[in-house]
Amino acid sequence: MEFNNYLCLKIWEENEMFNDAEVQEILTNITNDDENSVSIVECMLDGKTTDEEIAEFTEIRLNIVRRVLYKLYDAGIASYKRSKDPETQWYTYNWTFEKEKVFEIKDENNEKFSRDINESLEYEEGNMFFICKSNDHRYNFDEASENNFTCGECGEPLEYQDNSAIIDELRELKNNLN
Ligand SMILES: [Zn+2]
Repeated sequence: MEFNNYLCLKIWEENEMFNDAEVQEILTNITNDDENSVSIVECMLDGKTTDEEIAEFTEIRLNIVRRVLYKLYDAGIASYKRSKDPETQWYTYNWTFEKEKVFEIKDENNEKFSRDINESLEYEEGNMFFICKSNDHRYNFDEASENNFTCGECGEPLEYQDNSAIIDELRELKNNLN
């Protein structure tokens, strides 16, 4: 992670939220920009609200700042208020980072991961599996017996697969979640 200046580094240290690898991953998945996203968000959290201020503060090009902001906006984790300058008649956009929404996404991801593990575990425990030796194509009992225990993809005979190691691994993952 590179920092554009000392101030950003200070904020980085103060902001616990970005010590969380999951939060960083959520951000960069949304923005597709692992170079600039965290710096931009940090500067918003530090109270910089316009794209120009953020660009100046982070020394990130304005068009990149805007692109990141709009991607965050699309994902619902940034919002803006528009106001008109009475003299110049120009609009100013003041951006806010929706921190809570990021934690919501994080919780949803974790719940989904935990559901997936439970489903996989149930499936592994509730089925027998067969594989072809040369390519590891894998079938449950119904699929294998429908095809007379030959591989539907490469025609090789299928062999019973002991899946207890997979089950152990899934159980361990499940225990680590609790
Ligand atoms: Zn095969």
